[in-house]
Amino acid sequence: MPPEQATTAASSSASGSAIPESASAEALAERVAAGERAAIAEALNQVDDNRPQNQERALVLLDTLETRPHGIRIGVTGAPGSGKSTLLDALVSRLRERGRSVGVLAVDPSSQRTGGALLGDRMRLSSAARDSGVFLRSLAARDQLGGLSEVTGPSLDVLSSALDCVFVETVGVGQSEAQVIDLVDSLVFVAQPAAGDLIQFMKAGILEWPDVFFVNKSDLGDHSRRTAAELRAGLELGSRRDPDHAPTVLCGSARNGLEIETLIDAIDEHQQYLKQSGQGEVRRREGRVARVRYALATRYGRFGLERLEAGRLESFVADSASVSVNRLIQRLGRRIEAGLDSNVS
Ligand code: GDP
Repeated sequence: MPPEQATTAASSSASGSAIPESASAEALAERVAAGERAAIAEALNQVDDNRPQNQERALVLLDTLETRPHGIRIGVTGAPGSGKSTLLDALVSRLRERGRSVGVLAVDPSSQRTGGALLGDRMRLSSAARDSGVFLRSLAARDQLGGLSEVTGPSLDVLSSALDCVFVETVGVGQSEAQVIDLVDSLVFVAQPAAGDLIQFMKAGILEWPDVFFVNKSDLGDHSRRTAAELRAGLELGSRRDPDHAPTVLCGSARNGLEIETLIDAIDEHQQYLKQSGQGEVRRREGRVARVRYALATRYGRFGLERLEAGRLESFVADSASVSVNRLIQRLGRRIEAGLDSNVS
């Protein structure tokens, strides 16, 4: 079936054609997994479609995609101006040279604009934008609690089903940075070289989470090497997310393409560690629980969450490995609503 017809069939099933949701979701998921651009765009639209009549279709698609093999997911965070966009630009080029397909999901903290345009403005990726092995997407950031919008996780599930490496870029401040940890396998922190950084990093609680630190702008002189040394010293002192894996601290220049290959190797090495140690599985499980908890807290408040028995959420998520986070949110949300209703009556 040509792509246009397949898309139509998937859509028409929602309005009651003979094709069941599961079959059309399976067909779309196959096309996404094959890296077909029209299918990726269609899937991104479906998971961002809030209309109640399309909810089941999006959930079936996510159930299908989440249980399939995924490319690696990497968070890239850091203060505005540290060089995240420039670095992503360099990473995309080098990864393409290595024959790997790449996605970039840029979360813009202030913008309500979505789609590829914003990212295109910010990145010098005009050639990559025409490259079928690269997929760029911008998302507006905030939900009502100041975190990532709820569509970030599902969008990442779509992109990482299709592409070898997917980066999620967030600005390293506040809630959205903390939440990106729940979505990715590895986190890269892009640091600005400047004197006196360590205390700021410690105050911001930055040191605990990243797996790789990239101190950027090494072309500007010795500051970046000093900042890297301070970071290494700071990492010795504080608590780390994973005591068994010391984060890598690199010093390079996104603009001049220095140490970009080393950064890719560090990311790959961390991925290997996650696989071999089993930590990757642990992170994904914890991330699913955190995403479900956050969504339920957003919708029902702490009072609503307390309607679930203690420990219920973790065991429910653990017992439901074959369904998507969004399906879990729906099922547990119904339980909370039922509990609330019975309390009222
Ligand atoms: P973002 O806000 O973190 O995405 O940062 P940008 O990628 O937009 O970069 C902010 C500024 O720093 C821009 O003017 C970049 O040209 C500059 N920049 C980024 N990387 C480097 C670098 O390695 N060296 C130097 N000298 N400037 C850089």
